[in-house]
Amino acid sequence: MFVVRKPFAFLLVAAATVLSAVGLVRVLADEYKSGIPWKEPKVIDPGPPGGVPSDAVVLFDGKTLDAWHGGDRWKIADGVATAAGGGITSKQSFGDVQFHVEWATPEKIEGSGQGRGNSGVYFMGAYEVQILDSYKNDTYFDGQAASIYKQHPPLVNVCRKPGEWQTYDIYFKAPKFDAEGKVVKPAYLTVVHNGFCVQNNFELSGATSWDMAPKYTAHADKLPISIQFHGNPVKFRNIWARDLTAEEPKK
Ligand code: MG
Repeated sequence: MFVVRKPFAFLLVAAATVLSAVGLVRVLADEYKSGIPWKEPKVIDPGPPGGVPSDAVVLFDGKTLDAWHGGDRWKIADGVATAAGGGITSKQSFGDVQFHVEWATPEKIEGSGQGRGNSGVYFMGAYEVQILDSYKNDTYFDGQAASIYKQHPPLVNVCRKPGEWQTYDIYFKAPKFDAEGKVVKPAYLTVVHNGFCVQNNFELSGATSWDMAPKYTAHADKLPISIQFHGNPVKFRNIWARDLTAEEPKK
């Protein structure tokens, strides 16, 4: 039979006393709870890696650009849309939104600086995230790929070579205006380029423009997204968006 010798028995009793005291403290302390009546987050299917989540609005699935005004001018072949003849503008309007797009600048290098693989994603017709062939291509830094045009360069240049597919996951927070048209909340952009955060919740100081300083002009809460045609046959595939409008509970 296993016999506990006296000194060891004392140690066991002491250990049990300390442990139960700790337990008692845990029972007596109140757990913090926020008390905010959160709604259960909606369950969505993320799809396979690199796929489209179940709550996304598909804007280009490789077959048609019917979700866009101006899409009939672009060429579609082998699941890829190539910019031509003018920009495209989504038929649906968005406010706060996650926007995914894959793009490739022309494999054959033509032009230089802003003339090489130029396109861009415009939110609300006013706020451009630049698309450009920025692989060994000098231009002004706040105009290179993944810049907020003429407001902020990307944190790093993670551009792939011309002709290679690249991804943007862009998180846009729409600006808010009061009844007088004054900015209550500015717009914010977070840009993930090829998997790397290159704009980290950047606060915009207004619309992006080639020939004017940034300035806000009041507009609707929801407006379309556009993709620019800047004379270069930039390719696109797998375009989708997710509404990020947050429903905050009343406190
Ligand atoms: Mg552009």
